[in-house]
Amino acid sequence: MDTDTIAAISTAMGEAGISIIRVSGPKSISIVDQIYQGKHTLQEALTHTVHYGYIVHPETKERIDEVLVTIMKAPRTFTREDVVEISCHGGLIPVQEVLEAVLSVGARLAEPGEFTKRAFLNGRIDLSQAEAVMDLIRSKTDRAAKIALQQHEGRLSRLVSQLRNEILETLAHLAVNVDYPEYDAEELTGQFIKKRSLEILRKVEELLQTARQGKIYREGIATAIVGRPNVGKSSLMNTLTQENKAIVTDIPGTTRDVIEEYVNVRGIPLRLLDTAGIRETEDVVERIGVERSRQALQQADLILLLLNYAEPLQQEDLRLLQLIEPMTAIVIANKMDLPQQLDLDEVHRLIGDKPLITTSLKEETGIIQLEEAVASLFKMGQVQAMDGTYVSNARHIHLLEKARKSITEVVDGIDAGMPLDMVEIDMKNAWQYLGEVIGDAVAEDLIDQIFSQFCLGK
Ligand code: GDP
Ligand code: ZN
Repeated sequence: MDTDTIAAISTAMGEAGISIIRVSGPKSISIVDQIYQGKHTLQEALTHTVHYGYIVHPETKERIDEVLVTIMKAPRTFTREDVVEISCHGGLIPVQEVLEAVLSVGARLAEPGEFTKRAFLNGRIDLSQAEAVMDLIRSKTDRAAKIALQQHEGRLSRLVSQLRNEILETLAHLAVNVDYPEYDAEELTGQFIKKRSLEILRKVEELLQTARQGKIYREGIATAIVGRPNVGKSSLMNTLTQENKAIVTDIPGTTRDVIEEYVNVRGIPLRLLDTAGIRETEDVVERIGVERSRQALQQADLILLLLNYAEPLQQEDLRLLQLIEPMTAIVIANKMDLPQQLDLDEVHRLIGDKPLITTSLKEETGIIQLEEAVASLFKMGQVQAMDGTYVSNARHIHLLEKARKSITEVVDGIDAGMPLDMVEIDMKNAWQYLGEVIGDAVAEDLIDQIFSQFCLGK
């Protein structure tokens, strides 16, 4: 296959100040060599070595940036092609200039995900790993990046493979009974299969239960700050963004996220919704009506409702309290540095078991309590899936749900006294769905082959 050489900025997360340009393809070394100035040429370089030098303008030979160039020759690379990585020390502008230089001497700008696609096509990674890398590119917090990385390292793949092996063993047991009905008592086999299926079902469900957490880590908890004018919404926004370092993936050329919108509260990513219309508008309920405000708020996973500690409850507060009634919300009585006018007992009565926090954003009190309330609502730190593996991809979730359904049908079938060869079909389906998670498209007849061998050997 005749492939071209591609290049893109692929800055690693959290490494501000260093940007990496990755070049992959048959000509990557000779291309970078044309604009590299160092002690030796890159053509002479051994594989997996790092070289100090300069990237120079292809025509003027002016130095663009001081760099470290890493040479990795096929096949021991991410894409299984020759890969050159240029680590630049400069800021964004020199990086762009280095990229332009690379492109001007023969590389093509990579499409989003194209390195990963090549890794997959060249058999370097399986499908779920490829998707994990795509998630990594899009992930917005450290934690999400770690989940994506774990998956990238094949943890999900390993777990799914284990599950498939268990199904395979169970299928083998079934096959013996189906092919040699006299060999084993049908009833006993049924009970054995049921027991194994319930174990498998439990594991699939555990994986699925983590899916929600995975999604939250990846996308952030959509959070809306609401309240009457002047209660301190902007102040809260500022406090949250200042106290909690905003962490974003900033890969030029890919989707750029607005830094201010993501804050990390004790490892829990909050995506502060652009609630123009909720946050900024003077009287949103008045303006767009209760029903539409409710709809606007429903995009949020979490509502932070501010009340004024120094004023009695107002009509508009009551309407907002009513709006958030069915939602996950934390109520904040702000301005506790001023004399109390708000009836906290009444607020408690109105909000039921929703947390109520008193703060002074001015004097920076109550903020720790607020963060604790957020953390305990989402108890993310504590939630650990089996082996710490999270399922965070919609396609995986979908396939796992299909597998769960098939295994449930196995159990139901046995309970209903269905013939075992019918049960076997559902079991095979579950195996197939899990196979799709890791992109393992094994033909149906291959399964049959495995079992015919197994049965012959018995
Ligand atoms: P918003 O209209 O809801 O966004 O409210 P702002 O955040 O703009 O705050 C309105 C005013 O209240 C500003 O002058 C803030 O400095 C002040 N403010 C905010 N929080 C507190 C607080 O805890 N105590 C006091 N005394 N003033 C506060
Ligand atoms: Zn340097």
